[in-house]
Amino acid sequence: MEKKHTGQCACGNVQFGFDGDPDFIADCYCKDCQKAGGGAMATFFAIPADDFTVTSGKPRAFHYTANSGNGLDRNFCPECGARLFTSNLEGFPGMVFVTIGSLDNAAGIAPKLEMFTSRRLPWLHALDLPQFPQMPS
Ligand SMILES: [Zn+2]
Ligand SMILES: [Zn+2]
Repeated sequence: MEKKHTGQCACGNVQFGFDGDPDFIADCYCKDCQKAGGGAMATFFAIPADDFTVTSGKPRAFHYTANSGNGLDRNFCPECGARLFTSNLEGFPGMVFVTIGSLDNAAGIAPKLEMFTSRRLPWLHALDLPQFPQMPS
């Protein structure tokens, strides 16, 4: 069945879908996100793992221990290297974090907060959203 939301990597090898509309959508400025994405921050959102399906291809998982001490798997396309989603999050059991750039259509999905703003690079400006120096509790 066609999923409401679909996404894929840069080369199209790995494709995924989910039906729920995300609620937790964050800009994250933490060092882990900067390193993993290679950019100044990452925008991602949470989807229940049982709503998230890889529909084509085989992402490769890199197990990683974040600054928080919690383990997670960063999933990327082994062909083009595009980062797609994070799974097996010890800190958020049962959830998958999807990077917004991998969506086919991100209309209507916008960040609701910014976190780890203590790591924000000095030339970036805060959005008009709740700001959290660390992880929101
Ligand atoms: Zn790819
Ligand atoms: Zn982060």
